[in-house]
Amino acid sequence: FTFAELGLPESVVAALARNSITVPSPIQEKALPDAIAGKNVLGRAQTGSGKTLAFGLPILQRLSLHTDRPAAKRPRSLVLVPTRELAFQVVESLAPYANAQGLRVMPAVGGTPFNKQVEQLRRGVDVLVATPGRLADHLRQGTCILDSIEITALDEADQMADMGFLPEVRAVLAGTPADGQRMLFSATLDREVQSLVRQFLPDHVEHST
Ligand code: AMP
Repeated sequence: FTFAELGLPESVVAALARNSITVPSPIQEKALPDAIAGKNVLGRAQTGSGKTLAFGLPILQRLSLHTDRPAAKRPRSLVLVPTRELAFQVVESLAPYANAQGLRVMPAVGGTPFNKQVEQLRRGVDVLVATPGRLADHLRQGTCILDSIEITALDEADQMADMGFLPEVRAVLAGTPADGQRMLFSATLDREVQSLVRQFLPDHVEHST
């Protein structure tokens, strides 16, 4: 299939083409139809496989379904990543396609001023790309509320487990609506990741390359 056939917004398909992204990668070919259909998706994929768009495009598709912002401009989608570096990378990868839709992508990571993030959150964000520790701080302070999250992606879940972040990941996921869509990408599936999947991705479909 082509990206256009997935039902992605035309502006997103055009922005992909401008970046010479016209043929889905293997993990995209497998995961995108199910993810865009709203299913919970477990993806086994390495860095460089195109996994960022495998979860990023379904997020943008979902946000395009209705464009009215929730009360107090709360975020409608969330990407959890293990490190600041990956957060910035994901923001950079998704920004052209989000901006094509007038959507705002924002990193929320440690090591950057908390109050600046609070201000940005207050102005409104569509795709929140966060590390678990900093987002858990925002939840405790009440400066970010996740009750409007419709779709969540966990990237490099095995790394988050290895770094000891699963308690924060669980706290964050527990703050999102239980009937929301969830996608989890991981290179490996050890016991900790499997238990996260069991708890938070009911009835998921699994894809690997
Ligand atoms: P990722 O695995 O998400 O880090 O992506 C690795 C690189 O592949 C990034 O530079 C993407 O822009 C690029 N990429 C992702 N999907 C495609 C695709 N379908 N065709 C060509 N390049 C792609």
